[in-house]
Amino acid sequence: MPEENVDVLIVGSGHSGGMVAKILTEKGISCVMLNAGPIVDYQKDRELKPAHELPYRGFKMPGRLPHVFQANEFNANTWVDEKEVPYTFNQDQPYNWVRVRLFGGRSLFWARQSFRLSNYEFKAKDHDGFGTNWPIDLSDLAPYYSRVEGIFRVSGHPDGLPQYPDGNFVVDDSPWSGSMQRFIAAGKKMNVPVCKPRSAMGRDGLASSINLLLPDAFATGKLTAVPNVVVREITVDKNTGLANGANFVDRHSRREMSVKAKVVVLAAGCLESTRLLLNSKLANSSGVLGHYLIDNIYGPGVVCSVPEARDGKATADLMGGGALIPRFRNINTKAPNFIRGYALNVWSSDRPMDSRNFAAYGVELQKKLDSYYGSGFSMSMMGEVLSRYENHVSIDKNVVDAWEIPVLHVDAKYSDNEFNMSRDAVDTGVAMAEAAGFEVLSKNYEPNPPGYSIHELGTSRMGDDPKTSVLNKWNQSHDIKNLYVVDASSFVSGGWQNPTMTILSLSMRASEHLAEQMRQGNV
Ligand SMILES: Cc1cc2nc3c(=O)[nH]c(=O)nc-3n(C[C@H](O)[C@H](O)[C@H](O)COP(=O)(O)OP(=O)(O)OC[C@H]3O[C@@H](n4cnc5c(N)ncnc54)[C@H](O)[C@@H]3O)c2cc1C
Repeated sequence: MPEENVDVLIVGSGHSGGMVAKILTEKGISCVMLNAGPIVDYQKDRELKPAHELPYRGFKMPGRLPHVFQANEFNANTWVDEKEVPYTFNQDQPYNWVRVRLFGGRSLFWARQSFRLSNYEFKAKDHDGFGTNWPIDLSDLAPYYSRVEGIFRVSGHPDGLPQYPDGNFVVDDSPWSGSMQRFIAAGKKMNVPVCKPRSAMGRDGLASSINLLLPDAFATGKLTAVPNVVVREITVDKNTGLANGANFVDRHSRREMSVKAKVVVLAAGCLESTRLLLNSKLANSSGVLGHYLIDNIYGPGVVCSVPEARDGKATADLMGGGALIPRFRNINTKAPNFIRGYALNVWSSDRPMDSRNFAAYGVELQKKLDSYYGSGFSMSMMGEVLSRYENHVSIDKNVVDAWEIPVLHVDAKYSDNEFNMSRDAVDTGVAMAEAAGFEVLSKNYEPNPPGYSIHELGTSRMGDDPKTSVLNKWNQSHDIKNLYVVDASSFVSGGWQNPTMTILSLSMRASEHLAEQMRQGNV
C-alpha cells in the first residue's frame, strides 16, 4: 500500500471496527481499515472436511491452540495460531485468550447472546461501594443500544426488570415447553426470575460486521480495507504530540509499510488494542493502561434429566427451548459472601446426552444413554468478575510474535468473590431443578481459567479523571485527542452480560462524537 494521507485509520474489522467504518463513512469521512488476517468467503471457507480426512477423525484438539478450548479439528483454521502470535502467563495462572484475526474478527463466530448493561453495572459502586462507576449511565447509551438492536435484529421479550433492561426487540412470544414451565414455577417460589433469552438474529444466519456493517461502509465509496497487515505501532507527530498514523507489516511478505492519518481509531479487540498502545508507549499518563482486566466466569453449571422425558416418553411439548435467569442476587437483598451477581443460561434438550454425565461403561453406559436420550435439562453460569487493578497485562520483553512484535504477558486470577458466586450459582440451579422434579446428574463448581468466556474487557478504561482512566466518556484518549479506542477495553465494569451489544453501542456513540469533533475542527 502506498504511503498516503487519510482522514481516519481504523485498526480492526470486527464488531467495533465495522461500526466505526459504517458511521464515519456514512458521514462522508474517508477511512482506511487495516486488519491482521485474511478476507474469508463465509460460505465456501466454512465447508467442513469429512471426518475421514482429518488426522484424528475430528476427535482431537488441533495443535498450536492449547488454550482455545472451543477449537476442534474441524474449525482449527478459525483461531489465531498461538505459535505465530504467542502470549505468556505465569504457569500457576493460566489464561485462555481466544482470538480470531480473519476479516470480521470474532463477529463471524460469536454466539449472539445480546444484552444491555443496566445501572447495576454502570453505577455499581453506588450499590455496593466497590470499584468505580462508569462516567455514563444507561440513559446515555440507551438510544445507541436501540439502534444497534435494530441493525442486529435482537429477539427478546420485554420483562420490565431493571437489572435486565428491555430493548428494541423483535418480540419473542414463543410458548414455553412443559419442562421450562415447571422450572419457571420453581423459580417463582424462590424469587428467581426465568426470562426469554435475547439473541441477535442478524441476517441469513450471520450477525457480523461483514454482513451488517461493512457493506454500508463500502457502499459509500469512502472505505479502503487492507487485509493481511499487522499493525506494529501507532505513530505520533513529535511536534504536536498527536497520533498521525501507524507502522504495519505485510503478514506474508513481511514488507514494512506505514500510513498517515488525521485520526486513529483502535478496534483491534480489548487486549490487542492495549498491546498496541503499550508497544507504542502512548496514552498511559495515568499508568492504568493494561490494568483492570475483566472477563466473565464461565464453567460452573448443572446437568439434569427430566424423568418424564426418559425412555422415549416425552410428549411433543415437554422438552426444548432456552431461557435466561438474569442477575437476581444483590438487587433487593444482600448475598452473604459475594457482591454483584451472575446469570444462568438454561436449556431443555430433546437431543442425546453427553456420556460424561454417567458413571458407567460399555453396555451399561449405552443403556443409560438410550434411556436418558432427549431428557436433558442444563444450566450454565455467566458471572461478574470484579474489576481489580492487579489483574493486568504488560509487554513481555523476552517474547515476540512472528513479525518481531513484543507479545503480552497476562496476569489474571479470580478472587473469593468469584468463587463464592460460582458456588451460589450451582447450588441455586440444583435447588431449582430439584424443586421442578428433575434428577440432577452432575454439577460443576469449578470456573474455567480466566479468559475462557472470550469477553476480555477493561484494560483502557474510561472515566472522567485522566489520573485514573485512559479514555474519556467518549472513548477518546485523555492524552491524545485524535486517538479513540472503541472496543471493550473501555469497560469500567463488566457485569454478567455478554459485552457485544455494549461494544457496538459505545463504538457507535464514539464514532458520532468523533465525526462531530472533526466537523468542528477540534481533532
Ligand atoms: C465463539 C464465540 C462466541 C461468542 N459469543 C458471544 C455472545 O454470545 N455474545 C457476546 O456479546 N459476545 C460473544 N462473543 C464475543 C464477541 O465476539 C466479541 O465481544 C466481539 O466480537 C469483539 O469485537 P471487537 O471488534 O472488539 O474485536 P474482534 O472481533 O476481536 O476484532 C478485532 C480485529 O482486529 C484485528 N487486529 C487485531 N490486532 C491487530 C493488529 N495488530 N493489526 C491489525 N489488525 C489487528 C483482528 O484481525 C480482528 O479482526 C463470542 C466470541 C466467540 C469467539
